[in-house]
Formats: sequence, structure tokens, C-alpha cells
Amino acid sequence: MNTEYGSNIEDIKASNRELILSTIKKHGPISRKDISEKLNLTKAAITKLTNEMIEQNILVEKGQFCEPEIRAGRKKVLIDINWNYKYAIGVSVEYDYTSVGVCNINGETVALKRVLTDRSLFPEAFLTKLAGEIREILWTNSISRDELVGLGITFIGAVDHKNGVVKKEFGLWDREIDVRTFLEKELQIKVVVNNNVRALALAEIDYGSANGNQNILFIRHGFGIGAAMILNGNVYYGAHNASAEIGHFVVDYNGAKCRCGKKGCLETLSSQSSMVNRIRDLFSQDKTPILYRECNGDRNNINFDIILSLAESEPLILELLTESAAMLGKYISLAVQMIDPEKIILHGVFFNNTNFYNIFLEEFKKNADKHSEESILISKINTKKSYFGGIAIVLKKFFYDNGGLI
Ligand SMILES: [Zn+2]
Repeated sequence: MNTEYGSNIEDIKASNRELILSTIKKHGPISRKDISEKLNLTKAAITKLTNEMIEQNILVEKGQFCEPEIRAGRKKVLIDINWNYKYAIGVSVEYDYTSVGVCNINGETVALKRVLTDRSLFPEAFLTKLAGEIREILWTNSISRDELVGLGITFIGAVDHKNGVVKKEFGLWDREIDVRTFLEKELQIKVVVNNNVRALALAEIDYGSANGNQNILFIRHGFGIGAAMILNGNVYYGAHNASAEIGHFVVDYNGAKCRCGKKGCLETLSSQSSMVNRIRDLFSQDKTPILYRECNGDRNNINFDIILSLAESEPLILELLTESAAMLGKYISLAVQMIDPEKIILHGVFFNNTNFYNIFLEEFKKNADKHSEESILISKINTKKSYFGGIAIVLKKFFYDNGGLI
């Protein structure tokens, strides 16, 4: 059919199915009448499309429910997404760990595996091994290819999401690789690739703290400092695929070299790895006696969990972490002033510490005065479940945005 002069009937149908799915996702279970009112489409059109989607097993009727506000005896049928219609695979490849999770459409995990990221392997060998792990998980859980929507895989660093190509990874691989083509061939399923922070930000809308808000600034504090902007439920990529690079704001022109190539980025002072490195440089029996004892005198035993747990008792650690929390508050507030998001969602164990969160907040409020404490939410996605990002991107692309037409 010719689409040159506008949308054809099939396009309109697909986009209406997409609208129905997103409405049920947001407000469901919901009646056909309420869907038609929310979408401003006729009840007849909604009935036709939802019946078709029920036949295809994408939607289910939840029985009849009485509504207290309407006439006694009047009942209405609610419909919902059939959350067990298909499964999705999410993979998060990070510097230390790679996690794989298989979830239903509602994000309920049915299988899970977390392995060390083997950085000594060439990209192809790494992906071949990963595909083997995925096949094994599917086999063990008796999940066949027809039951899958696809696979969403996320990486640290820059990703060309349109072409499924992972660019030169920060500290993982030294050349770019077409991950989508490679894995689609290996596994014979649809694959979508994106940056881990952007994918996790989308997962906050589906499974996390966003509470129905579609315009968010998401900050992930971990090995590095990542951020993502979500506008109207979609990632804002920017003109150079480089939006929301808060971690790479230069805050000290004479500072340490950053993995991005610049000097003195926020990440070199306030990320988990930079805090660990800075403490390692100060580590001695005199300056950090408690930490020294705790780590048996070996600086290699220092990790972020240890320094966070000793922060209250070791003055030097307290000083350094306080400075880092304040710096995060200051620079994140500058970004917030600029883009004015509905919610700011913070992800990472540093923000779960009340003392440092309050220091962050104090600094944040000095600048972002329009954003009250209620604007800031702590992520509900466990730091070990970063595969949720992969689940969110694959369901968005091949289920929700497709109107369920897999
Ligand atoms: Zn940088």
C-alpha cells in the first residue's frame, strides 16, 4: 500500500493498538469505555481492536466488576494486558558483572544469572559465550523461541542504538562491534541494543519509581556517573548521541584524566571508583587506621562498600565522601535547573545512605529551588538487577511500540 501521502489504514490500526496498550499499562485494568474516553476514540473502534487483541492472547478480560459510583447492579468488564503472553530477555554487560534475566511482560523475573564479565575475551568470543549462557537458561526453564518477544542488551559507554553497534567501550573492548547482527544470528531472535543508563531510565517508568511520570532525569551512581533524560516516555539522545553527560561535566581543569579522555570530570571525583582510588592514595596506618586494619594493610582490599560502611568512624573517609556528595548535589542541580524534569530519580547505594543523601540534598536545594524534596525519588530497581534495562528496551520496541504485533 502506498504510504507516500500519509498514514494507511494498517498504520492507523497499529498506532491505535499501541495507544490501547500504553493506556492499559498506565491505568489498567480498565474498561473499554474508559479507554475510549481517555483516547478520544469511538467505543466501537476500541471494542473491535481490543476484541482482536484478546483473540491474539495479548489482552485478557478480568471478569465483571461493580462500580460503586454508578447505578446498583450495573457492571463493567475490565481488560488488562496478558502479562504472561510472552517473555523477554534482558542482559546488562557491565565492567565487573554481566547479568541476564528472563521476565514476563510485567517484569516478573522467571530466570536469572549473574556472571563475572570476562574482559580478557575478544568481543566475538565474549558474545559467543554469552549466547551459550542464554541458550542454557532458556533450555533449563523450558522457554522456546516462539515464547520470546526478543532480547534487550545494554552496555556501559556509547552505543549506536539505531544500528545495534557498541562503540569503543570504556575499558571493556578497544573496537566497535555490531552486537545486534552478531546475537540475532547466534540466537535467531530479535535483539535491541542500548546504553545501560538510558535503558535503566526507561525501566524506571515501567518497573521503578517514576510513578507514571514520563519526563525524568535519571542518575546512576556506580562505577561511573551516568545520566539519562526521558522526555514523554522516550530517551532524548541529543544531536551527537551525547545527552545528559553529567558525569563528564569538567569540574576541575587541572584534575585527573578521565576515561572519556578529558581532565577533571565530575566522575573523576565523585563516582564510586574515583572515591575508592582517592582513598587508596591516602591509605596508611597513620591516616586511615580503621580502614588499614579492616583491609589487613592491603590497599587492594579497599572497595566502595567498605569505605561507605566505615565513613562514620574514619574521619578522612567521612571528609572525602561528604565532599563527593556535595559535589553531586551541586552539579546535578545545575542540570535540573536547565531541563526542569518532573522527577529526578537517583540510583546507587551512595544515595541510600541517609547522611550522604542529606548532604546531597542540602547542596541540591541551593540551586534547584523549584524542585522540592518530593521531586527526587530513590530508584526501586535493585543495583544487582540492571538487566531490567534490557527488558524495558526490548518490550518497548517489539511489544508496546508495535501494538503487540510481534
Ligand atoms: Zn569524563
